[in-house]
Amino acid sequence: VGVNQQPAWLDKPVRQSYLSYRTLYTEYGIWSEESLMQVLYDKDADQNFLVGRRIAVIGYGSQGHAHAQNLKDSGVDVVVGLRESSGSCEPARQAGLRVTSVEEAISGADVVMVLVPDEDAAELYRTQLHGALKQGAVLAFAHGFNVHYGLIKPRDDLDVVLVAPKAPGHTVRSTFIGGGGVPGLIAVASDQSGSASQIALAYACAIGCGRSGVIQTTFAEETETDLFGEQAVLCGGTVALINAGFEVLTEAGYSPEMAYFECLHEMKLIVDLIYEGGIANMNYSISNTAEYGEYVSGPRVITPDVKERMKDILNDIQEGRFTRDWMLENKVGQTNFKAMRAKADEHACEEVGHKLRAMMPWIKEKALVDKSKN
Ligand code: NDP
Ligand code: MG
Repeated sequence: VGVNQQPAWLDKPVRQSYLSYRTLYTEYGIWSEESLMQVLYDKDADQNFLVGRRIAVIGYGSQGHAHAQNLKDSGVDVVVGLRESSGSCEPARQAGLRVTSVEEAISGADVVMVLVPDEDAAELYRTQLHGALKQGAVLAFAHGFNVHYGLIKPRDDLDVVLVAPKAPGHTVRSTFIGGGGVPGLIAVASDQSGSASQIALAYACAIGCGRSGVIQTTFAEETETDLFGEQAVLCGGTVALINAGFEVLTEAGYSPEMAYFECLHEMKLIVDLIYEGGIANMNYSISNTAEYGEYVSGPRVITPDVKERMKDILNDIQEGRFTRDWMLENKVGQTNFKAMRAKADEHACEEVGHKLRAMMPWIKEKALVDKSKN
């Protein structure tokens, strides 16, 4: 049902949130629950699949610290495997976790969750995991990348699963502490034991995902949609949009401080409203002027041509061109990658941001990222 063809019985205002539409549609039989993707919750999981199983979390970065700490808080037997030289050994011990070498961690592990950077995982698997994983162990990932693109070819006796929380690691942890959880995806690439998906679901629930919803998918779907989302919309698209807006205002002579607040700071306030109740919820809160501007100007920014570029990006992901380039970049020591990062850090929007955020200490007090801890 399009916006302009609302059924007669729907006499609620146009600004209905997505969820209330869904409830109404279900009530009137337009939207059947069977037509929806199945979402699993804590009640659907059997935590017995983790009882008596030791889980080794390899890596203690963004995802690693969140998985390890959430698992521990859920009563799971967890050990963190790190290189001896890692600066993360101490913070992990401080958090009350058992920390050992990678070798020792995997020797007794029934489930090994690989949470090292994607570009390093294949080398880790080849040199340290392939020959040493317990017979019949579960090899787990938080992103299907390496398995989907064939960079890792797991041993035949292993269960291979995916548990991908749909949030940055620091949010996975902070949401869990707050009593909630972030949505998660699970998938199975190899099921030798016959219980791979139950183990993946139990793991997902132990890190909090079952509190908000777990969706069963495939390695291919998770990998391709994840890469597309972060490149075209969430990270690539958003950063390019913020910076372009900032540049247009400052090049027109407006102050960088104004441009920062308009194009970056307020992004969160708007996204919070969208997150809470969909786009209609945000439109309900903003002024009619802002809403009218959204309708007439949004499509002038994101033109059909931009959508074509998005399709090109998706195509590069599906055909493996993005992965080929990224792995080549790693072969040459990430030279270009590091140069692009340095250039991004120098953007005028980042400079003025440092100054302005120093005047808003409450942002720091509630910070999700604390580089000294993880
Ligand atoms: P990070 O870069 O934050 O952390 C990497 C960790 O791995 C560090 O603790 C590092 O320790 C350790 N490490 C690196 N190489 C090795 C090695 N050879 N042996 C042992 N430990 C090693 O990674 P992320 O958490 O960002 O990513 C991990 C996985 O989670 C990836 O598959 C990613 O796609 C996925 N993911 C990440 C999300 C995120 O929020 N970042 C979101 C969803 C999925 P040190 O260098 O100190 O030795
Ligand atoms: Mg991602």
